[in-house]
Amino acid sequence: MFDTIHVKKPLICPVCGAEESSLQTKHFDSCMAHFKIGSVLSGSPVLIGIIKEALWCDACHKAGRQSADSPVYLIIWHSLLAGVEQDLAKAEARLAAVDRLDLIAWLDEAQREAARWSRNYHKLFSDVSRWHEHLTRPPEPEPTGAEAERHRAFRRFFSLPEEILTATDPLAAILAANKQVGDDVED
Ligand SMILES: [Zn+2]
Repeated sequence: MFDTIHVKKPLICPVCGAEESSLQTKHFDSCMAHFKIGSVLSGSPVLIGIIKEALWCDACHKAGRQSADSPVYLIIWHSLLAGVEQDLAKAEARLAAVDRLDLIAWLDEAQREAARWSRNYHKLFSDVSRWHEHLTRPPEPEPTGAEAERHRAFRRFFSLPEEILTATDPLAAILAANKQVGDDVED
């Protein structure tokens, strides 16, 4: 087993120039965890320092080329992943330059991400619950009389949007709508 590290700035294969946005490593707990810069590396044997890893190029592997075995340096600062560099001098400079502003930025990003997950799943859970209610509720008579419009508005407010209720696959429509929300926030 291994863990995966995701990087925003792609790693470049020195053999074919392909870009890789992640790399796998067995240096930590190797329990299929996903890390990015700013993540706490559970199980890191190094508290502060640089770990040498090798770049895996998918394009070279698929083309049957010999792996370049080019180094990738994981920069670790107080068990946090502080950076990923392909050049040792850059890795050393990065390690020396980590400061409290980096910490604040990582903390800020972690808190935003936690809030995003919580929001997205709250909405998804609410939509699926409303769909379940919709399926199990006995049909209600169409409201009539003086209060009819107010009743209809009230019902609209608590029911799922029309495009979901009338979709061929309402559950898929709910998932798509919630995925959309997640993607929008991501940008
Ligand atoms: Zn390559």
